[in-house]
Amino acid sequence: MLTLYTTQSVSEKIKQLKRKSLSIGFVPTMGALHKGHLSLIKQSKQETDITVVSIFVNPKQFNDKNDLDNYPRIIDEDIKKLEKSECDILFLPSVEEMYPRNYTEKFFDLAQLDSTMEGKYRPGHFKGVVAIVSRFFDIIQPHKAFFGEKDFQQLVIIKHIVKQYNYPVKIVACPIVREKDGLAMSSRNILLSEAQRKKAPEIYKTLFESKRLMSVFTVEELKQWVVNKINAIKTMQVEYFEIVDSETLTPIDDWGAKCKKAGCIAVKTGKIRLIDNIKYNL
Ligand code: AMP
Repeated sequence: MLTLYTTQSVSEKIKQLKRKSLSIGFVPTMGALHKGHLSLIKQSKQETDITVVSIFVNPKQFNDKNDLDNYPRIIDEDIKKLEKSECDILFLPSVEEMYPRNYTEKFFDLAQLDSTMEGKYRPGHFKGVVAIVSRFFDIIQPHKAFFGEKDFQQLVIIKHIVKQYNYPVKIVACPIVREKDGLAMSSRNILLSEAQRKKAPEIYKTLFESKRLMSVFTVEELKQWVVNKINAIKTMQVEYFEIVDSETLTPIDDWGAKCKKAGCIAVKTGKIRLIDNIKYNL
């Protein structure tokens, strides 16, 4: 695996590879890699010739300084996992490299997709995500980029900017990878206490059970049922639970709505926020 630290070195290397007609797959991450990330790399290796993984904890997408300071950084372990997964290029830039002094942020119209759910509870988060992903796209110019459905709203927003601003990249959505007990894998899971970790699978268990209740509950009743069930757990507090059109993120109020539907949830347990989602397709 080749590790590159500068935007210039990575874009030169990619140009070289493209001249050999090799296709480039890109997997952006913030590190503390787990099997969810590795599934994206596996997908990229199946669909493209060269897989580039970036590890960059993007300060612009953290609205909470504590969260940024506490975000797990375990680069030596990450490198071992990347080598094992046969990643071709690791791009490991510094903050100064990604946001140099002369950097001017491009404006992206997110069409209000950032006004609900994560966007509401993490103001500025998606502006930061779009700033860094678009910068990576400009530098790496991948043929395909791989994103997890775990961050459902992020995926919808990335697809939106790619379409709206004509980025020549295909976005590939990859399914959520879960622990055996159902908890969606996340870099933040290692920050959970033993007691918090024990209760965390209740989030997915509740979402999964709720699918069975679509036939007996209205959308509103089902939302309330999910919120009540999770809030009944002493250590957990639901921030939001919305059932939305999977493409527009508009909340739906009727199961008969002619669109694909997703239930998206954020739960706080102590200082840690966990997010998850489930598809409600009839
Ligand atoms: P992060 O390092 O948290 O920024 O995540 C990098 C990429 O991995 C994003 O596209 C995430 O959606 C994806 N990802 C994170 N966790 C999972 C998971 N459990 N299953 C599938 N993809 C995931």
